[in-house]
Amino acid sequence: MARCAGLFVIEKDSRGKWHPEIRLSIPLLRRRDWPWPQQVCGMHCHDPESIQQRILEHELIHYKLWMDREKDWGHSERFRQLARDVFGHQSITHGIGHEE
Ligand SMILES: [Zn+2]
Repeated sequence: MARCAGLFVIEKDSRGKWHPEIRLSIPLLRRRDWPWPQQVCGMHCHDPESIQQRILEHELIHYKLWMDREKDWGHSERFRQLARDVFGHQSITHGIGHEE
């Protein structure tokens, strides 16, 4: 099980308005004592900066799909296509390291 470093959530406020939010686990993203390289989104990362970039890219795709009013802003076919074509991600993960 991978450690979850990023999350895309939508929360409803007291007026019933929805707010999208990208949450990052700063302690995980700042860690430097991993055995390098680490796999994030199926790509080899050699420093915390590139881990953070990969995680943000992944969450941004969720954000974009939601902004585009897609019914499914999860790991849909369109999500996979964007991840692959725009960012070159080789797999769809929220964490650092291998995910089953
Ligand atoms: Zn995701």
